[in-house]
Amino acid sequence: MNHTIHTLMHHLRLLLITSAAYISAQHIHATDGAADIIPISTPQDLIAFSALVNNGASSANAVLTADLDMTGYDFTPIGSTEGTCYNGTFDGAGHTINNLSITQPGQNGIGLFGYAGSATISHLICGSGNQVQGQAFTGGIVGDKVTDGTLTLTGCGHEGTVTCTAQNGAAFVGCVHSGNLVINHCYNTGTVRGGRESAIFCGWFSGSASAISDSYNAGQITAGVDGSNYLWRSTPTVSRVFDISGRQSTTRFTQDDLLSGALAWKLNGNRAPGPFRQNLDTDSPDTHPVSSSLHAVVYACGTLRCDGTAAEGTTLTYANTNGAQYQPHVFDQGICQVCSVPDAEYLYPNRQGYYPISTPQALRWFAAYVASNPAHASLDARLTADLNMRGIPFDGIGSIAVPYSGEFDGGSHTIDYLTIRKTDQNGVGFINSAHTTAWIHDLTLGSHCAITGYRYVGGIIGHVSGPEGSIIRLERLGFEGTLTLNNNGGAIVGCIPNNNITAHLRSCYSVGKITGTTECGALSGWSSYARLTNCYARVNGSGWETGHDVVRGFTPVFRNCYTYGAKQTAEGLSTFTLTEMRNGTLLQNLNDPAYTQVTGTDTNPKLK
Ligand SMILES: [Zn+2]
Repeated sequence: MNHTIHTLMHHLRLLLITSAAYISAQHIHATDGAADIIPISTPQDLIAFSALVNNGASSANAVLTADLDMTGYDFTPIGSTEGTCYNGTFDGAGHTINNLSITQPGQNGIGLFGYAGSATISHLICGSGNQVQGQAFTGGIVGDKVTDGTLTLTGCGHEGTVTCTAQNGAAFVGCVHSGNLVINHCYNTGTVRGGRESAIFCGWFSGSASAISDSYNAGQITAGVDGSNYLWRSTPTVSRVFDISGRQSTTRFTQDDLLSGALAWKLNGNRAPGPFRQNLDTDSPDTHPVSSSLHAVVYACGTLRCDGTAAEGTTLTYANTNGAQYQPHVFDQGICQVCSVPDAEYLYPNRQGYYPISTPQALRWFAAYVASNPAHASLDARLTADLNMRGIPFDGIGSIAVPYSGEFDGGSHTIDYLTIRKTDQNGVGFINSAHTTAWIHDLTLGSHCAITGYRYVGGIIGHVSGPEGSIIRLERLGFEGTLTLNNNGGAIVGCIPNNNITAHLRSCYSVGKITGTTECGALSGWSSYARLTNCYARVNGSGWETGHDVVRGFTPVFRNCYTYGAKQTAEGLSTFTLTEMRNGTLLQNLNDPAYTQVTGTDTNPKLK
């Protein structure tokens, strides 16, 4: 037994010990977990790693520390059966596995990884000498995605040959039978020869959260294409995918773009450095971009507009040294008209530390300024006037990735004619996503506001996150507009997915309309143990769950709250009629100085 095998056996023992510890005390697993990354530097190491996984250590993690030449080695796929599907993190660190040969024309689920479940495979290049042959569900990197959870391929390249004698062959993942597949910053220059229903990225790209982005294909399928579904079958979310023939509505590029560095520049969003690299200035340059940090950064040379595209009259060249002259931004009302970045000098916070927002353009700027830098997520703002947002693009404040954590004080003002239309996006609202340390208060969105999203869609806040046990306070917020979504939406809060976060709503109301498919609530789409005081809601629209149409969640606690049109009943939740909403009776019952109403003019109690 050589040293490497000894090391792997040691890791196997560690893993077994760790799993036993996990059962008795979960925190031990958390502290020990990081140490278990197995370095792989030789073909024998890779073979031993495969044996380790196939013997039951399906969550084993590994990192390549060298390029591997698998010439002459027999190799069994990592995760060779559904029962031993790979659930770990495999980091190629920019290295290449080349000349790997797997010939199993009678076996399903064949690839470098045969079966995978919840796993991440990153920065791994499968070289042009690789030959992977299987029956159905055969992929150059993964054969078959099974079990719930997400398989992520990021920064991976495939340059080899895949032969699939039956259905669902692909350069990356043969088939998704269960869960989701996310592919980003990946490329294929290799060849797929399939029986039928084969595609470059995935032969069956199912899964409701499956996606492919920032990737390219310059390779080909020689047999087994299903109609026009050359790059993928089924319907992943697709963004910024490039194909040498522009198939399936992707962006077309030329052979010269591939060679010159132009494609690398575009894939990187017209900036440097980016995930795609390409050695250009050497005697043996790369023939295409590679997603490996071991290769050189690509720069555009010449006169560039601020968004990284060629200035008028300029033909760009590309090199591994920076030769760019950038034109200045073209700011108008605080936003660059070319690249959309916000002007850092457009508005300054006042002496109390908040940004005063007095125009629609300033509100748009504030959202863009918060989005431009994670350090801006906690900035405070206060409305100093009612705003009419007609014709002003607005993307919402914060994001699920960087939730807004500042104070947004509406100053008792109303924003109207605000439109957000993000049909496929999760976490959409005036505040797209808030951290529980945010404080949103004293704001009404008027009846002409229209907000559209997919999941976690709110009039005021789409999505809330924060530490376990934290509370988000929402005070004096009103919504009178329309919300359109698939699931998990509400006028004040779309969804708080973490059941250990509580929302406290005081003096909040909705008379808006929600058009959803399912899991909607007039005030909150999901909020596990919400507490509501002096709130009222007219339930109007679709997507309700019977009995949870005011607040969807575990046992919300109502104090002096009122509803019209709801099937939800609870202590502290009374009903009102539309006449009572108009004639001041509801106002009187709310008995809260936050509300006011000019009867005869206002059809419902408003916030002062
Ligand atoms: Zn610009």
